[in-house]
Amino acid sequence: MTFENEYEWTVIGAGPAGIAAVGKLIDNHIDPKKILWIDPEFKVGDFGKKWSKVPSNTKVSLFINFLNSCNSFEFLKSNVLFDIQKISADETCELDLMVQPLQCITNTLKSKVVSNIDIVSSLKMKNRYWLLEFNNQNAIISKNVIMAIGAEEKILSYPDLKTIPLEIALNKHKLKEYCHSDDIISVFGSSHSAILVIRNILENCPKTKILNFYKSPLCYALNCGNTILNDNTGLKGTTAHWAKENLHGNLPENLNRFLANEENLKNELYKCTHVVYAIGFQRRKIILEGVSDFEYNPKTGIIAPGLFGFGIAFPELKCDSFGNEEHRVGLWKFMNYINNVLPIWLRYSI
Ligand SMILES: Cc1cc2nc3c(=O)[nH]c(=O)nc-3n(C[C@H](O)[C@H](O)[C@H](O)COP(=O)(O)OP(=O)(O)OC[C@H]3O[C@@H](n4cnc5c(N)ncnc54)[C@H](O)[C@@H]3O)c2cc1C
Repeated sequence: MTFENEYEWTVIGAGPAGIAAVGKLIDNHIDPKKILWIDPEFKVGDFGKKWSKVPSNTKVSLFINFLNSCNSFEFLKSNVLFDIQKISADETCELDLMVQPLQCITNTLKSKVVSNIDIVSSLKMKNRYWLLEFNNQNAIISKNVIMAIGAEEKILSYPDLKTIPLEIALNKHKLKEYCHSDDIISVFGSSHSAILVIRNILENCPKTKILNFYKSPLCYALNCGNTILNDNTGLKGTTAHWAKENLHGNLPENLNRFLANEENLKNELYKCTHVVYAIGFQRRKIILEGVSDFEYNPKTGIIAPGLFGFGIAFPELKCDSFGNEEHRVGLWKFMNYINNVLPIWLRYSI
């Protein structure tokens, strides 16, 4: 094993959270040559690869705020006018439009810091540094590490049904290849992604039948002036509008909805040929020696001294003004959160 180098900060992951972390470190005067950035592809993470054909639940204005919120992004200096800058700030958009500028920012940041196309396999403490081991057997040491490693969709185990991956079910172009007129697809879930999947199937595979199994009633975000009720868990934008029009006692012909209890699953699930799981996400794993399984403080992101979690894998837990606690996920929320916690992280190494 060779130690290639020693870094002050290492950021694992180049999705939107990794991009924000690297940008904010540079803005906070960390020498870019002492920052190592690691990702297997540098293609804007799952946001760029899996969800680019998904309609956003976020207004364009919040995406633009994200792009403008780090000097080191050099977004304002860019001569390119991106498509997302041509549409109204109040609209939502396909995530693709945000992927283009994020890819451009990734390239800018990569030219400033040390970047490494690789996968981190494990972390452990060595002489007051974090030792990071890579899939290719190399290793580096870093005083501080930000893990922005993203999350994968949770699945259930129904091996008799053919699973349609969520990224396919959310992509109307690819979904058509998977759906046939005699298919019956079970869709598990009732959150934003589940409703998007149902709508996608109904609109693009009109002869395919859907059985939707849900655990809780549909939940909507509600703008209450100074706060948004169900901001992180509720349906928003065009998806909320579509759900209100179609899913409340007036279901489309090819859709049935069932409470996901034992009896309904026993009576209905055997009729299905395929399944889509849209039941939430769980963080990716890295072997972490000497630290209990990725427990983190959801108010500060601290996992251990010098080791911090960020992004969808380690979301902030925050109370709204009604006292409801929600995990906050979304690009603008990541940016606000790192503005609050980075001053702590900068002082909490060993
Ligand atoms: C369907 C869907 C729609 C969404 N819509 C919106 C929206 O409209 N607006 C909004 O603001 N947010 C939205 N989000 C939420 C959120 O912004 C995205 O989930 C975003 O992708 C999370 O960014 P991230 O950087 O935390 O993770 P990711 O985008 O998943 O990036 C993680 C990166 O880390 C890399 N990585 C993982 N493990 C390792 C390792 N061991 N070594 C090296 N690299 C590693 C991965 O390869 C990946 O590149 C949506 C999410 C989903 C699922």
